[in-house]
Amino acid sequence: MENHEIVQFAEKVISSITNDINNSIYSDPEASLTVQWKRCEAFNASAISNSKPTEPPIHIIEINYGLVISLYQDIDDYCNYLESGLDQEIFDYFQKDHSAIKLLPPSFEPIEYRKNMFISALTWVYFHELAHLNQEHGYLLNKITNTFHYSKFEEFNLDKSQSLKGNIANLHHTLELAADFEAIKVCIAELIRHFNNHNNELKETIGTLVSGISCAVYKMHNLSMLDLKSEITGSHPSSIVRLEQILPQIWEHFDLLERHKLININMDRSELVQMVDMNARTAGFFWFRKRHIQPTDLVTFIHHGTINRAGGKEYLQSIINTWDAIKDEINENLRNKDKAFSILEFSDEYRDLVFER
Ligand SMILES: [Zn+2]
Repeated sequence: MENHEIVQFAEKVISSITNDINNSIYSDPEASLTVQWKRCEAFNASAISNSKPTEPPIHIIEINYGLVISLYQDIDDYCNYLESGLDQEIFDYFQKDHSAIKLLPPSFEPIEYRKNMFISALTWVYFHELAHLNQEHGYLLNKITNTFHYSKFEEFNLDKSQSLKGNIANLHHTLELAADFEAIKVCIAELIRHFNNHNNELKETIGTLVSGISCAVYKMHNLSMLDLKSEITGSHPSSIVRLEQILPQIWEHFDLLERHKLININMDRSELVQMVDMNARTAGFFWFRKRHIQPTDLVTFIHHGTINRAGGKEYLQSIINTWDAIKDEINENLRNKDKAFSILEFSDEYRDLVFER
């Protein structure tokens, strides 16, 4: 697609979703959710809240055209890479017992799966911003830091935030993971709404969803941010850490729905895990090649569970402790009470592993 077609397509998708949301939780005459498109090349999106939790919400999501065009171009390059078969032998090795799983969805034409991946990536960014607003993260940060600095959340201007350290950096990381968690829940709900009546299509688009979101997450991958042994700094977790939280969330959620027969994708758990894992892995290999990184750095592009990383358990302990301290207030301020299902949670089993109980 040409750049103007990408932008038109993105605006159509996002304005349709925003209209639906405005008719529900923003239906109060004084409330509004507005999307502002910015003619800016930088890869960035932001969430802005101009109201207190006690007032009707006046929320803005800013999205740069640069982000939209770049997301599509990355996905187009990624699909070209998979279609070329360049690293197919490596992927076959990883696939082992599940070689029947296709990395690109056979029921869709190449232009269709490109568009579907793009929608997944774009709506993940959008729902992540909406989650910051829905959970009133800016209000919470202002209250805790006793400032008014946080009416705007910027996602990709990461250099600016590197001075953040200690508890405040910890809090930022936790809120980002909370926004990711809600965004994934909503993306899955949207995917099911679109494809649930077409079983093969739903099954195949799980891989597409993972590919699209992984491409967007890897875009922000910065090798230096993966050091979990040092003090937490900056506003955002490492991209790989984010991915390592997102992927299990996706397979656990689909597995739960399948076991309760709320969807019918005809996949057992190991197949589902493999599909999610592989699609993310291919995005990691793609970004590794795209960035022309030294072969020894390949390992930093591969997800393998934050808990297994040096310093990973201590990092997750900080996140869980921070979340436990704020989650009641987040719940109280929640704009869309119907979205209580999308509030970040850590299972008892996971907590036992993280805290080595
Ligand atoms: Zn964010």
